Amino acid sequence: MAEQKQLSEEEAKKQLRHFFAEMPHPIPLVLFCDPAGKNEPFAEGARQVIRAIRELTDKVTLREYPLDHELAKEWGISRSPTLVFAPEAYKIRWLGAPLGHEAQTFMEALSIIGYQEPGLSKEALKVLAKLDSPRAIKIFVSPTCPYCPLVAVNGIRAAVARPDLITLEIIDILANPDLADKYAAQSVPQAFANEKLVGLGAQPEELFVASLAALEPQRVFIPDSDAEEIACDLVIVGGGPAGLTAGIYASRSGLAAVVVEKGVLGGQVATTPMVENYPGFTQVGGKALVDVMVTHALEYVKIFPGEEVQTIIPGEVFTLTTPRRRYKARAVLLATGAGYKRLGAMGEERLAGRGISYCSNCDGPLFKGKKVIMVGGGDSAVTEALHLDNIGVEVTMVHRRGKLRAQERLLGSLRKSGIPVLFNTELAEILGGTRVEAVRLKNNQTGEESTLPVGGVFIAIGYAPAVKLALSLGAELTPDGYIKKDERHRTTVPGVYSAGDVEGGYKQIVTAVGQGSEAALAIFEDLINPYWIKQKKG
Ligand code: NAP
Repeated sequence: MAEQKQLSEEEAKKQLRHFFAEMPHPIPLVLFCDPAGKNEPFAEGARQVIRAIRELTDKVTLREYPLDHELAKEWGISRSPTLVFAPEAYKIRWLGAPLGHEAQTFMEALSIIGYQEPGLSKEALKVLAKLDSPRAIKIFVSPTCPYCPLVAVNGIRAAVARPDLITLEIIDILANPDLADKYAAQSVPQAFANEKLVGLGAQPEELFVASLAALEPQRVFIPDSDAEEIACDLVIVGGGPAGLTAGIYASRSGLAAVVVEKGVLGGQVATTPMVENYPGFTQVGGKALVDVMVTHALEYVKIFPGEEVQTIIPGEVFTLTTPRRRYKARAVLLATGAGYKRLGAMGEERLAGRGISYCSNCDGPLFKGKKVIMVGGGDSAVTEALHLDNIGVEVTMVHRRGKLRAQERLLGSLRKSGIPVLFNTELAEILGGTRVEAVRLKNNQTGEESTLPVGGVFIAIGYAPAVKLALSLGAELTPDGYIKKDERHRTTVPGVYSAGDVEGGYKQIVTAVGQGSEAALAIFEDLINPYWIKQKKG
């Protein structure tokens, strides 16, 4: 048995020797340590691992310096042990020793660096190629964590793919408990980029690089496409709940459909702090719900986010143009949703982005501990005021009527929260030099005016339908400004349909989803048997 083990070790060493012999690039390693410090056992661990590798190859070299050496100062190294990989080519450092499961990461690192091959998928490389500003990655790992090598290796691959922009520190939490504490990295693996958490737990490489690019954890990866022209049956404009559902239904009916979204997938839901009335979820964060919908839709339909449809030329075949490509389709579904309504108060435009916000979920944390007002009296205003209160913002609601129009359940939560409401009050002016400092309020019953010092103004007074494309096609609107459509979601332009908030009505996630499914089924039936041809014939 012992002989057998010896043989297999010999065989493994032979293979490793061969692997290193084939490696085209040498790997200089530089180890910084403090021989008198408490982390010397980690440094000794690192030395032993490297010594074992050096017995197999001379392509890996090791220089060692004490932490007070001037090179440590020059490179900004202050922790023992710090292992630096191929410093002339990359900025990859290991704070700790490659022991336990981390030995696997170390071998992968040698392979990636020695072959100078990131080994990332084409999709992941595309994301990294688009990176245009630096990313300083920190990945917290521990030798006993079997998931850590996956994330640490993703970091190494990214740092090798973009050495011009990416620096990497792999941080062993056993050797650096103070750093783990500072970053509240109480579980591993955890990845930070530019001091922001970008990954908690193991992530596939595409999600890792997408999170790195976005500087926040991503749960859905949508591959990029280079195609200049895409031909299909149906282009769905808008990737909110209506558009995504239409994509699923259209594809399941057998139509080749694509979803094109100019901004964030999920529309308004993506910025809704909490959703409590979507069947199947008693309480779900808006973004989490969107991620589930997008993941589901991707099973069926291609999604093109971040592309604005600028023109639609009608015809037998519609031509839709975005800054990136053209789409040719037999039908178009406008699920363009609605945008935030502006109040039109004095100072609103001048101080835009300087203390005025239309999205409490996005900007709320910036106002923690500050006094703000929330203007509006509907479901959005109350939901968002509750969210602000919940995260420690001192919020007062300002409503132009004597009664809020939000749902009873939300009103109950509002009463419980104790958030003050100023009724019959209008926001007359937003005051401040370079940022919001106060608001001038007017009681529309008494005419009395008052000034309230605040650090922020949140506005949630409803949405204006996004009908620009519909108008460009010559589609008729309703008197309220929504797209006019029939019960099959046909607009007044043959081959053009609508779904979701752009149609008006109840504007709930469930109604948007219902409209998306209905529209897709109607389009499927119409494309088999086009009503516009029948109309032409007479
Ligand atoms: P909304 O229901 O249209 O309410 C807008 C609120 O803003 C109303 O209270 C309105 O006052 C006020 N307002 C409008 N223009 C104003 C102005 N110029 N100055 C001052 N106040 C003004 O809009 P929403 O709350 O954004 O809701 C939109 C849709 O989404 C609704 O169908 C809603 O049910 C739905 N939604 C649902 C949920 C949920 O179910 N959890 C959450 C968010 C939104 P008046 O009352 O005087 O008209």
